[in-house]
Amino acid sequence: MNKERKLIIAGNWKMNKTVAEALDLVRGLKLDLGGVKEVDLVVCPPFTALCEVSKAVLDSNLRLGAQNMSEHNVGAYTGEIAAVMLKEFSVRYVILGHSERRQYQMESDALVARKALAVHAASLKPIICVGETLAQREAGQMQKVLETQLRGSLAGLSKEQMVETIIAYEPVWAIGTGKTATTAQAQEAHAFIRALLGKMFDETVARRVRIQYGSSVKPSNARELMSQLDVDGALVGGASLETRSFADIIKNSI
Ligand code: PEP
Repeated sequence: MNKERKLIIAGNWKMNKTVAEALDLVRGLKLDLGGVKEVDLVVCPPFTALCEVSKAVLDSNLRLGAQNMSEHNVGAYTGEIAAVMLKEFSVRYVILGHSERRQYQMESDALVARKALAVHAASLKPIICVGETLAQREAGQMQKVLETQLRGSLAGLSKEQMVETIIAYEPVWAIGTGKTATTAQAQEAHAFIRALLGKMFDETVARRVRIQYGSSVKPSNARELMSQLDVDGALVGGASLETRSFADIIKNSI
C-alpha cells in the first residue's frame, strides 16, 4: 500500500500480560514481523513489563510505547510514572487520553494537553486518543466532540510538536465491542480531524500528522480501513494480545 504518510500500527495491551506472557508475545511478533519495514510497529505493554520487553525488542523493528505518563517530572505523586523512567527503557511513544482513562480516571482534555507537553519535552511522541460515544454520535455531535477534544488536548503544542504527535481516532462505541466504524465513517472522521488540524496549525502540519484508527481492528477489516486516504495506521486493543492476529493485521495492512 503506497501512502503519503508511513503507517504506524500500535498494540495497546492495556492491563494484560505478565512479564513471561509479554516476552512470549514479543518472541512471536519478532519471528513473524522481522522483515516488515513499511510500517512503524509499536507495542505498549503494561509498565511492569517495560523493562524486560525493552531488552527483548532491542535488536528488532518493534518500538516500545507506554500506556500513560505523568505530567510531572519527579516528586510526591504516588502511583505515577515520569518521562525519565520511561526513557530508561527506551520507550518512544506514550498513549494519552485513552477513553478508558478519560472514563475511569476522569482525565480531562486539559490534563491530556499538559501530559502531551511533558511527553514532547522528553523527546517522546504522544499518541493522543479522541472519539465520541454512541449517544454523542446518535445526537449528531461527533464533529463537535472531536473538535472540543482536539482543541483541548492539543492546546499549547507548537507546529513542530504537532508533526511529531500521533492522533488515534477511537469511536468509543466500537472499542472492544466487536463493532467497527464502517470504512466510510472512519474516513469521514479522519478527514474531519485533518481539516481541523489545518485550521488549528496549518495545511503542511495537517498533511504530515498521522491519524490512527482504533476500535475493534482485526485482520479481516485492517486492509479496507488502511486503504482509506486519511487512515495512517491503527491502535489495536484486543487483537494485539495474540501474535497471530496482530501480525495478520500488519501483513494485511501493507
Ligand atoms: C483500544 O482500546 O485502544 C482499542 C482499540 O481496543 P479494541 O481494539 O479492543 O477495540
